[in-house]
Formats: sequence, C-alpha cells, structure tokens
Amino acid sequence: MPRKVSIFGATGSIGQNTLDLIRRDINTYEIIALTGGANVEQLARDARELGAQVAVTAYDDRLGELRDALGGSGVEAAAGAHALQEAAERPADWVMSAIVGAAGLKPGLTALRHGGTLALANKESLVTAGPLLMAEARAHGAQVLPVDSEHSAVFQALVGEDVGAVERIVITASGGAFRDWPLEKLKTATPEQASQHPNWAMGQRITIDSASMFNKALELIETHEYFGISPDRIEAIMHPESLVHALVCFCDGAIMAHVGPHDMRHAIGYALHWPERRDLPVERLNLARIGALTFRAADEARWPALRLAREVMQTGGLAGAVFNAAKESALDGFLAREIGFTQMPEIVERVLTLMSVDYSLSSAQIVLDNVLEMDRVARQYAAEAIRAVT
Ligand code: NAD
Ligand code: MG
Repeated sequence: MPRKVSIFGATGSIGQNTLDLIRRDINTYEIIALTGGANVEQLARDARELGAQVAVTAYDDRLGELRDALGGSGVEAAAGAHALQEAAERPADWVMSAIVGAAGLKPGLTALRHGGTLALANKESLVTAGPLLMAEARAHGAQVLPVDSEHSAVFQALVGEDVGAVERIVITASGGAFRDWPLEKLKTATPEQASQHPNWAMGQRITIDSASMFNKALELIETHEYFGISPDRIEAIMHPESLVHALVCFCDGAIMAHVGPHDMRHAIGYALHWPERRDLPVERLNLARIGALTFRAADEARWPALRLAREVMQTGGLAGAVFNAAKESALDGFLAREIGFTQMPEIVERVLTLMSVDYSLSSAQIVLDNVLEMDRVARQYAAEAIRAVT
C-alpha cells in the first residue's frame, strides 16, 4: 500500500526539498494534497507530475489560474482558507507542515486528527500553541516529528535516552547575515541585505528572522514546548559553520552533539523515514577538511530577540502567540520599509509589554479560539506600535 502524504506549503523551500525526496521514491507514495500560495504555476506543475488528489492555493483570486493550469490532469483545484482546511481533513499517513507563519497552525491541528505523522517545519505552531498541538497529537495517537534542523538534531540525540537525564539543551545559531556587522551598522540594514544567509538556503522570512535572531528566539520556545525542558536549561550558542545543529548535555557530563551538512533534506528525510534511517542525497562531511568547529556565546544585548524569548517562556500561556504575531507584523513592517531592522525587536517588546498589562496572558487557556484571538489582537497592537514610530 503506498503511503498517503500531504504537503502544506509545497511550493516553499521546505516543501520543495520534501518533494525532492518524495520524487526519488514516488512509487511508494500517494500524494493527497499539495498546497501553496501565489506560485500557482509551480503548484500545478508539481501536482500534475506527482498525480496529487487536490492542489490548493491560499489565494481565492488565483483559483481560475490554478484550474486552467491543471486542466485535463484529473487533479482537483481549490483555493482559500476553507479549501486548505478541507485538504487537511483528507486522511493522510504523513503530513508535512511547511506553511510559513501562524497560518500553518490550523491545517496542522486538523491533520493530527487522522492519527498519522505530522512532520513539523512550521515552528510557529509550537510557539503560538505548543500545549494545544501536543495535546491534540496525544488525543489522536498522532506523532509530531520536528523538522527544524536543531530540533531534529535534539530528537536524534535523545533516541534511547531518558529525558529526565538531560541537564541542558543547546541549539546552535549561525548568526545570519549580520553576524560580523558592528552593532551600530545594524540600524541601516535593508531587507535585501537581511535576505542573504551565509550557510542555509531558506524562504525569505526565516532568512531575515535568522539575521535578527528571531528565528533562534522562536526555536528556544520550540525546544521548550516540544521537549518539555524548562527554559533555564535551554540556550543558544553561536556556531558560524552551521554543522553542529544541537547539543544535548546529560547529567553525567556527556554531551551528544548532532553534526551534519546544512541541508534541510536531512531533517526532512529523518522525519519521512522515521523510525528508520535511510540513504539521503546529502553531502557527507569530511571533518579533516573542515578542520575546526567554532563556538561562542550568544550576546543577548546584541540580539534582544533572545531575551524576549526567555521572557515569553517565563510568562507562558498565550505570550507565545502574541510574540509570534508581533514578530510577523514587525517583519512585514521591515519588508515594507516602514521600520528599520533594529526596530523589529522594539516593536515586539512594546506589544508584549502592553498586552501583558491588558490581558492575562499567562493564565489564559490555550485553546484555538484564544490563540487566534490573541494573534489577531497582537497584530493590531503591532500595527499601532509601527504607526507610532513612523
Ligand atoms: P517559504 O516562504 O519558502 O514557503 C512557505 C510556504 O507557505 C509556501 O508554499 C507558501 O505558498 C505558503 N504560504 C505562505 N503564506 C501562506 C498562508 N497565509 N496560507 C497558506 N500558505 C501560505 O518558507 P520556508 O522557508 O519553506 O519555511 C516554511 C516553514 O518551515 C516556516 O515555518 C519556517 O520557519 C520553517 N523552517 C524552514 C526552514 C528552511 O530551511 N527553509 C528550516 C527550518 C524551519
Ligand atoms: Mg532551525
């Protein structure tokens, strides 16, 4: 029986890397749903080639174009948020959650109801609603597997281990585009400059989040939510080579480090074939040629996002939903050149401060309606905060 798979965010960087692996073994898969956004041409091409049941674009006004591109293929065309939910309701054994942003939360939650595997690249799901997502998985006997490289690394380092014996989890950060820039110069950074990652090829939003260290901030929270480790035992360190993805430090002084090429097909492939390991078309590292792996402490004064992540973890509750939504809005503001690069964390901090006074973030119940409402309200606060500085 072929394995039924769906890929949410199939046209993105993670989605395309996932399709690359699936294509190599296509006879063992049945493609249920592929979803995308504005890149309708790519979506239709992949859906047609892989014989998907349905292709969904997030944009209602692109339906005609998608339908035309799929003409005669037998692939259903659909559009909009409702269609995305409908696609997530179609049973699948393995679902890749690779939509960018909080928009990935609802389809991921829906897919968990089939009790299969949710390969989770969409870190925003864990940041905004970690306890809800994990509870939903438990309730339906579904498996959530991390696809972020750091979290896949921790997951792999923990195989056969007792989480109770973990003293610390350390995730690494390349430092992004501006790791060698003087602090003063960061104020002048443009979206184009922030979109260049020294090591990884990724979508634009996560690439800019890497430069601002918001990506690492989200990943600290993701570590806390996924592995249930207390915030004071999780840290980020700078590792410019991006070859060690995470280190798990145990109570006997041992450290298990995961070392691998910076190629997301490793983490995707691990989640695709888990619990087995299979051959993957990724580079084999030659450590003698690499020579040195370097590490240095992450400077929280230089990267306010890291400090904010710690505060969010301490607050708990809906603080993660607020943090993520404010971050997404600040990033939109930066991309639209309404605010500068270093104003992004200022906006996020302002929103967190104001909303901590106006709402009981830490004690609020983490249910979907509350999460979506806080997400909506935080975007309003962020828009107001951006207006105030422009
Ligand atoms: P991307 O921008 O390349 O692709 C995003 C995908 O989501 C596209 O298919 C796009 O059409 C779709 N999309 C965007 N907005 C949408 C919306 N509102 N509704 C429905 N679909 C929408 O992003 P990416 O780099 O592939 O990242 C995807 C997710 O994986 C993010 O959560 C990111 O943080 C995470 N992630 C990515 C990488 C990486 O190497 N790219 C690594 C770790 C984690
Ligand atoms: Mg990562």
